[in-house]
Amino acid sequence: MALDLLLFGPPGAGKGTQAAAVARAAGVPHVATGDMFRGHLSQSSELGMQAKAYMDRGALVPDTITISMLSERLTGSDAEAGVLLDGFPRTIGQAEALDGMLGERGRQVAALLSIEVPAEELVRRVSGRLVCRDCGKTFHALEAPPRVAGVCDDCGGEVMRRVDDSEETVRARYAVFREQTEPVLAYYREFGTPIVTVDGARDRAVVEADLLAAISNLSPGPA
Ligand code: AMP
Repeated sequence: MALDLLLFGPPGAGKGTQAAAVARAAGVPHVATGDMFRGHLSQSSELGMQAKAYMDRGALVPDTITISMLSERLTGSDAEAGVLLDGFPRTIGQAEALDGMLGERGRQVAALLSIEVPAEELVRRVSGRLVCRDCGKTFHALEAPPRVAGVCDDCGGEVMRRVDDSEETVRARYAVFREQTEPVLAYYREFGTPIVTVDGARDRAVVEADLLAAISNLSPGPA
């Protein structure tokens, strides 16, 4: 049976930080639409160019573009046993489209993992966030800097600041989350999808332990 999970939360909640461990525990690939857009952008593909203007100002890329990119990703053979979606769906339209795409395959969202963090903490975190351009590992300029400035501890790639991580853009992204993305939670709650809420304002290891415990309760069998 496939295991399709949603990692949900505002920008800076720690979705990207937690995703690898959660995906590993669930035995499914980590699919992050933000990473996919950034990948397109770094290759200057047409899709990347279309998405750039929206991303730079902290707005959502239109549903038509986002849904077709995700739909194509779901056709990958590695997605047959399920996916951990990170940053998707971000609108009710995307949620409906996702349910349709999974439904065609006889699947549905198994659970939504919601990481909650207060707004001011998000701004503080994101405005110090640094990301490896090669492997996506995240650091924090003050609290968790890379061992060698500008160099990823894990892969040696270049560690940099995301263009959309300025305080102004972070506030815009948070407003978009409140207006357009939060309703997705109510949509799944109404549908009866299991929702696991985790307090993301704690140490990352504690948050990870909570998420992994939730996964082990969901998985069809021991990992
Ligand atoms: P993230 O890395 O998830 O914070 O995404 C970075 C940016 O990519 C967002 O601020 C949006 O501009 C765009 N993006 C990522 N996922 C989506 C989505 N599901 N729908 C629309 N835009 C998205």
